[in-house]
Order: sequence, then structure tokens, then C-alpha cells
Amino acid sequence: MTEVWRLLDTGPRSAAENMALDEVVLTARSRGRVPNTLRFLQFSPPCVLVGYHQAVEQEVRVGYCREHGIEINRRLTGGGALYWDESQLGWEIFAGKEEARFPRRVEDLYRLMCDAAVCGLAKLGIKAAFRPKNDIEVNGRKISGTGGTSLGGAFLFQGTLLVDFDADTMIRALRIPTEKLKDKEIRSVKERVTCLAWELPTLPSLDQIKSALVAGFSEALGVTFAPAPLGAREEELLAQRLGHFRSDEWINGTRRPLAGRSELRALRKSPGGLVRVSLVVAGARSPRIREVFITGDFFAYPRRAILDLEARLKDVPADPRTIERIIEGFFADEEVQIPGVTARDFVQTVGEALDKLTYTRHGIPRDEVNSVFPVVRPLPEITHCPVLLLPYCAKLPQCEYRFRDGCAQCGQCCIGDAYRIAEEHGMRPISIQNYEMLEEMLADLKRQGVPAFAGSCCEAFYAKHRSDFERIGLPGILVDVDNTTCYDLGREEDAYAGRFENQTYLKLDLIERVVRRVGPKHLPTPAAAAEEKETTASPDVGVSREYARAG
Ligand code: SF4
Repeated sequence: MTEVWRLLDTGPRSAAENMALDEVVLTARSRGRVPNTLRFLQFSPPCVLVGYHQAVEQEVRVGYCREHGIEINRRLTGGGALYWDESQLGWEIFAGKEEARFPRRVEDLYRLMCDAAVCGLAKLGIKAAFRPKNDIEVNGRKISGTGGTSLGGAFLFQGTLLVDFDADTMIRALRIPTEKLKDKEIRSVKERVTCLAWELPTLPSLDQIKSALVAGFSEALGVTFAPAPLGAREEELLAQRLGHFRSDEWINGTRRPLAGRSELRALRKSPGGLVRVSLVVAGARSPRIREVFITGDFFAYPRRAILDLEARLKDVPADPRTIERIIEGFFADEEVQIPGVTARDFVQTVGEALDKLTYTRHGIPRDEVNSVFPVVRPLPEITHCPVLLLPYCAKLPQCEYRFRDGCAQCGQCCIGDAYRIAEEHGMRPISIQNYEMLEEMLADLKRQGVPAFAGSCCEAFYAKHRSDFERIGLPGILVDVDNTTCYDLGREEDAYAGRFENQTYLKLDLIERVVRRVGPKHLPTPAAAAEEKETTASPDVGVSREYARAG
């Protein structure tokens, strides 16, 4: 006889209620109190949900959300921050992990669940396909993202279905690493995503969409569904847990970035998502890691794996070999699965953060080391840069050079000062007008045999294009800009259209310090010269510091 699962439709609810329900139903299923369940969910009012391993302030424009009545909450599952309004439909499967129909490998479970949703979309006339590792796409454009978590003997697997799509609000609510230098960026968000309203001549009713998905899951999993509400015990648990899911402790406190100026930060993009590491290191002679904070939009199974890894790295000697041993041991010992992110990704990101300990010896103040972004190699290995690449958006909006290379150094904006600094240190200043120009410039410099480059950009730009820089392969060093970007000001469409009228400000003091260190006229400070000697002599410190992605 065909197995019957519960079909639970909880309708539009607040973010806190929906997040609490995820935990409640998963708990009830893990205790065997409820049958396997397919839940449909919607959000009202609109909300932003960060992934379990993300820090709210790193991912969300909190001020914009507050002003526009957009709730902020945290999912039980990993992955990236999502914007939800009532035009999206969520589906979730709660089931027993050990059942024979479910594969053990997370990647295989992704495929099975996505194939079920694809089967449902086919019933609406949509030709969708699974795109590893966890998306569903239509003609190359994403229509659904998925992810999951587990508790005891049960798992939760969830997906979004874009029925309609408000890209503009999403871009404003999330700190999406779009940037003013990349042409076509805003429109390209719309080109990478699609929704039922754009794919179908007539939008089916919500009931028709749900029926199609039910039919898809039924066919793919070989079960039938019977509608049933939350049980009394689930309602009781929901009332108990709702306060927690509304609390600051859950929303912000679960992953609150380390406070203070002494932290060392690094980030890298892996196929499984962005990995960010912050460390607090103490002790001058034998430095030890006192605090570790790892965030990102990856999925970790079990969910607490990242917290366990942080615990293992706490209070250990801050040297690359020890870190490598601990992280690789952690991945070997535990049943940890983080699809698309390897032990090497964590080893390298922690190593890059630790490298910043040495930056002070190269003239960078301790509270500025996180404003220096290495490309391919760490700062101590970057020398003889002949060029300083500067973003056009730092030019005065009315300047005749705003949208072309060059600067008359008239004194009315910081670009003129940056040009002067570059020239004083024997470097050629170049203003970069768009991302394509930057990529061509770097490739060209590499062809010419230039050893490295220096420049300035925002952290979001660096995070997004780090893999592009590594692909091009020219080592370099980038200096962060002052914090206010066109995206914080809500002017990203203007920036995209090349009309952004506000200005980015360069960190001129830091640029000068970096240029002094990496320009052609560089003479190492005594401390730096001693370190260079030590690096050559010590195999431990010299463990391949190349930052290209490993594994
Ligand atoms: S300093 Fe250069 S970029 Fe700035 S306003 Fe003057 S000419 Fe234009």
C-alpha cells in the first residue's frame, strides 16, 4: 500500500513563526510524533532570512529593512540570505533520515528533492532542471534555491519557488555583492533569475501551483499526501518557542561578529559558498588564537559543525601547521559534510587571516590590516607594482574625467591626491571605469611581465571578484574604500547606468602606506627586511602562501 504523508499548509505567517515552525515540526518528526510531512509556507510581512552561518550585519541592509517594514530573521538551514515576500512559495519536506528511499550523501539528497520539485514544475508546463549543487533552473536562470538541515533521526529539506520576483527590493534589502564597477550588474541579477510569472503566459493560481508540486513529490517519492493541520503538541511547542525565534539572541546573537579592532579577517569564495573568518590572536612571543568566528553562505551538516570547528581552533598556537592539522583532523574525524567547501578552504582562509599579523611590520597599522585585501599572494610578497588602479566613482561627480581615464589633479577630490601619491612613488595611476576594463588591464599587465599591481576597491567587489583575480593570476594588493557605497545610499541603478552622482572616498593614508611598501621605490623597513630573511630561512612560514584556490 502506498505510504501516506501529511500535507501541511501553514499559509502566510511572520518570519519568526515560520522559523519556529521549522524547528517545531523537525523536532516533532525526530521524536516520531508526526508523520513525514510536506509543508507549504509563505511570508507576510516581507522578510529577509539569513542563513544559519551568516552574520546579519554582514548580509542585510538593516536600516533599509527597518524603514520599509521588512522583517529580519535567521533560518535553521545554511546558505545565503534571501528576500521573501508573498509572491514566493516555500515548500519543505520533513522526513526520517534512515528511510531507504533517501540517499545518505547530502549532494544526492539535493538531487532527489530538486528532481521532485522539477517534476512538479513540469505539470505547470515549466521545463526546469536541477543545477548542482542545490538550485533549480529554467533555461539557465534560477527559479528555486534549496537547502536543508537535520536533527536526530529526521531531516528538513526546503526550497523556494519564485512565483513573481521583486528584484529591486531584494537588491536594496540584501548586501548583495554587486558593485559599481561591473557593467550590467543590476540587470544581470534579473538575467540570472526567473519566476513563474515570466515563464508562463498566464499565472496559475496558488492552489494550482501547490497541486502541481504535490503531484511532483508524490511521483518522485512514491507516496501520497493527505491534508492535515498542525497537531496539538506542535501548536503547544510553537507557542513555547516563538519568543526565542523573535529574540535578538536568535536573530543576531547566534552569529554576532567579534567586536573590537584587534580582530584579523579574511574571506574566500569556494564552490560551496563564501567563507569568512575573523580571529582574535593574543601573545607577542607565542601567539595563540583566543577567538574564532566563521561565517558564510555554505551548508554544514550537522548544523553545529562550524561551532565545533570554532571550539577546536580556540586557544591553539597561531601557526599554520597547527591550524592545518586541526582543521584536517576535524574533517577526517567527524561526519562533517559541507558541500563544495573543503578543509583546505578553511585552512587557507584562517592562514590568510593569520598572515595579517605580519602586516604591521610592513607599515600597516594594526587597526587597518583588514582594509588591505591580498590578491594571489600576501602583502609581504608583493613588490615593484608599477601601477595604482583607482575606481572612477571616487571622482567628483561633475568632473570632466568622471567617465574617462585621467585626472588634472585640480584638488577638488581624493583622486587627484591618489594620482600625486602614485607619481611620487614612481607608479602610474589609472582610473578604472568598469569591471571589463579592470579585467583587460590586469591580463595585459600580466602579459607584459609586470610582477604585481596595487589598487583600491570595496570589500564586496573584492569578495565577488576574488576568483576572477586568481584566474588572471597577477598578484596584487587592494585597499578598501570608505564605507559608504552607492548601494548603501540606494543609488545602485544610477551607478549601473553610469550616472551615480555620489562619491566614494579613498583611504588616502592607507593607500600611501601600501604604495610606500609595494611601489617600485620600495625599501623594506628594518622589521620587514628581517622578516623577509626569516621567511626564506624558515620552511614553516614559507608553506606555499599562494592564495589560489586549493582542492
Ligand atoms: S582631482 Fe581629478 S578627478 Fe578630482 S575633480 Fe579634479 S580633475 Fe577631476
